[in-house]
Amino acid sequence: METIITRFPPSPTGYLHVGGARTALFNWLYARNQKGKFILRIEDTDTVRSTQESVDAIFEALEWLGIDWDDGPYFQSRRFDLYREYIQKLVQSGNAYYCTCSSERIEEMRKQAMASGGKPKYDGTCREKGMSQTDGAVIRFKAPLSGTTVLQDIIKKNIVFQNSELDDFIIQRSDGTPTYNLAVVVDDITMNVNTVIRGDDHVNNTPKQIQLYEAFGAALPVFGHVPMVLGKDKTRLSKRHGAMSVTEYRDMGYLPDALLNYLVRLGWSFGDQEFFTRDELIEKFTIKNIGKSPGVFDQEKLQSLNADHIKVAPLDKLSDHLLPFLGKKGYAAEKNQYLEKVIQTLNTRSKTLEEMAASADFYYQEDFKYDDKAAEKFLNPPFLSALEALMAELGKLSDFSEKNLEAAFTAVMVATDQKLGKIAQPVRVALTGKTVSPGIFETVEVLGKDRVLSRLQRAVEYIKSNKG
Ligand code: GLU
Repeated sequence: METIITRFPPSPTGYLHVGGARTALFNWLYARNQKGKFILRIEDTDTVRSTQESVDAIFEALEWLGIDWDDGPYFQSRRFDLYREYIQKLVQSGNAYYCTCSSERIEEMRKQAMASGGKPKYDGTCREKGMSQTDGAVIRFKAPLSGTTVLQDIIKKNIVFQNSELDDFIIQRSDGTPTYNLAVVVDDITMNVNTVIRGDDHVNNTPKQIQLYEAFGAALPVFGHVPMVLGKDKTRLSKRHGAMSVTEYRDMGYLPDALLNYLVRLGWSFGDQEFFTRDELIEKFTIKNIGKSPGVFDQEKLQSLNADHIKVAPLDKLSDHLLPFLGKKGYAAEKNQYLEKVIQTLNTRSKTLEEMAASADFYYQEDFKYDDKAAEKFLNPPFLSALEALMAELGKLSDFSEKNLEAAFTAVMVATDQKLGKIAQPVRVALTGKTVSPGIFETVEVLGKDRVLSRLQRAVEYIKSNKG
């Protein structure tokens, strides 16, 4: 069986946006599912708009998403000799020609065509002149004048283009650089790419590319054009709809596996299953299940999927992802067992890592401020005896196991004749500064004896100095 070879060829004219990432994912998943090869190619022939910064941003986003490549990165800007060689092949085989029509003439043709309601097309003035290389000339592809070019698209099915509607498009600019359609085809042929999955904004380029393949006598790849990603208002997703770049989602506290899962589901389905691990996606991905209708990007859905991924993510990985968020808040958090325990109390109640880091504040601060309302209600003389009794009980323990903690709290309940609910709230405020936190036993257990005793002491002093 032929090895499946796919590619992702971004143009480095900005960050990697979620739509582009989805295209990359489809190609990557298909290659991984088929035990094929995935190529990364940077399409930087537009030397004015391409920047190193964008190249770096694209690598960074792909690496964060965990999309790895088997071959490349190739840079089109380093392959100009190859394109020239292929362009000359076309000139020699009579499939391309030099054209010296001025841009004014071309503009005139365009205007006339528009005025008469026709499609702007090159009129073929230089087509049969048989010119050899001339300074300032462009090279045009000699496109078939009649008949049809059929795009057999695995997603959209057959699309038939009338050749009379297509024109002799430029393959080499007057400065000697190749145009997009030419470079893509030469690359895909020489890199043996046999599956091209890309956005349907390229559908109109594809008949030109098919004609080039034919002129080169090369086999066509399988083409699949995926519908664009839309915003909630059903217009093409853009900055107006919110964050667009992959790294913005990283910085907002999304897990790569969650974004990956969400983007793939946005245009591909497997029954009505929503949650997929990375391995499951690799195992189940098929191009036949890529949908025909555009996906609508919904940040709330992404967030709830993120929460699901946070719940099941291995603690070790989650620690790595959470640490930068804790660092941003100025907490001296480290990758250790304490962090893993902290995470275990928060991973079922956090929609993002940003939110998790915010909830983890009391684990990493000793001098936190008490929430005003919480302190007013619970750091009061009536609770003093319970707090002091708990300090005494916990002080006796060498092991903060759940069983021991329960016994200590029970002893306090008996001694003060109060229910757990009454005791838990002042303890919670003493330990976390707030009335809402993870379960009281888990919180005490994770904070450990030293922190707990000193925080209880702090609360006792607070009550005595404020209300004593
Ligand atoms: N560089 C093109 C883009 O970023 C690639 C299109 C293609 O997949 O052929 O849209």
